Amino acid sequence: MKYVDYIVVGGGIAGSVLSYTLMKYGASVQMFDQPNANKSSVVASGLWNPVVLKRMKKVWKADEMMESLQSVYPAMENWTQGTFYEPLPIRRVFHNAGEQNQWIAHSDHPGFSPYLDERISDVPNRILADHGSGLMKLTGRVQVNAMLEAVKAKLKAVDSYTEATFDWDAVESHGDGVKYGSLGAHAIISCEGAQSALGESRLDVRGFAPVKGEVITVQLKEDLGKECIHQGHFMIGDGKAEALVGATYAWDGFHNGPTLAKREELEAHVQKVWDGEFKTVAHRAGIRPAVKDRKPLVGPHPKVKNVWIFNGMGSRAVLMTPYLAQNLVEHFMYGAPLLTECLPERMMK
Ligand SMILES: Cc1cc2nc3c(=O)[nH]c(=O)nc-3n(C[C@H](O)[C@H](O)[C@H](O)COP(=O)(O)OP(=O)(O)OC[C@H]3O[C@@H](n4cnc5c(N)ncnc54)[C@H](O)[C@@H]3O)c2cc1C
Repeated sequence: MKYVDYIVVGGGIAGSVLSYTLMKYGASVQMFDQPNANKSSVVASGLWNPVVLKRMKKVWKADEMMESLQSVYPAMENWTQGTFYEPLPIRRVFHNAGEQNQWIAHSDHPGFSPYLDERISDVPNRILADHGSGLMKLTGRVQVNAMLEAVKAKLKAVDSYTEATFDWDAVESHGDGVKYGSLGAHAIISCEGAQSALGESRLDVRGFAPVKGEVITVQLKEDLGKECIHQGHFMIGDGKAEALVGATYAWDGFHNGPTLAKREELEAHVQKVWDGEFKTVAHRAGIRPAVKDRKPLVGPHPKVKNVWIFNGMGSRAVLMTPYLAQNLVEHFMYGAPLLTECLPERMMK
């Protein structure tokens, strides 16, 4: 029988960052992942941004999350010998003079000044806008697919990765821990993402309010350069005359895949902001595992012994997971307090 400290169920952003963090702190891990072309993490644009641009508000625990993010992803690159961490300023394009003034006022505020460049700059060639733009500092992108593949390869190399659906019905209690076939473990951590959010896991986890999102990739006649532009939707140039455009929001049609209506919404956006020809070359949909009260689910399962939940990252998995993984692992290792706002038991009442 093989023993590990933790079985991690799910190999999306949540399971991958958590597995890395557990191993960094000296724990052994066995990850189970059923690759799924529509998993949220595969579709994600991979951006991180500690400021909610529409409302000019900082994200919950933005400063702490940024501190973890800036050390964890470079360390994961080192650990995996992969390349996926890309700091990149997000360019907020202003729709009117009011938005411009709001930006100037915020960039002067000590809470926001680390995140907003106070200068108003011109927009790149061929972007249609009349009121200039502001650049965000400390934002960027994780190339999510490259990160997931790098972690998978690293785990495979030490026989810590199983490509299979984890069967919750086959879990047995075993001493102080659990047994799953010929595998023994101290505990299991569910990082089942969208599958849990849609109620498709055998493990009962409550509190989700899933949100569907769609993105298109457009081929441009002229290159936008390596730019990330926010004008209501994002347009992210890759420097090779292609751009990723998204994302949309919908609260139904979770199983319908990419839809014509959302493709048209995104193409209409490109027509409005881009002065040039373009052609849609890819279109994908995914489900964000969002939670009703917009806080993730991190902590012990309220009803099942030795089972933990690490889920509910909504639309900010890249920003949130390094900090939340560190919090959970420091709880396992040193008894550090868990974040009460994130405890799954709040949804079981
Ligand atoms: C269009 C779109 C754009 C987005 N853009 C961004 C962005 O720019 N920045 C950002 O931070 N977030 C973004 N998100 C949100 C982000 O994608 C999600 O929050 C994140 O991917 C969730 O990751 P996860 O690991 O929790 O879940 P998932 O990505 O759903 O991964 C879960 C994995 O677990 C596997 N699994 C589930 N159950 C089992 C089981 N029983 N056995 C084995 N395997 C199992 C699944 O097959 C899957 O591989 C976006 C989402 C969408 C849809």
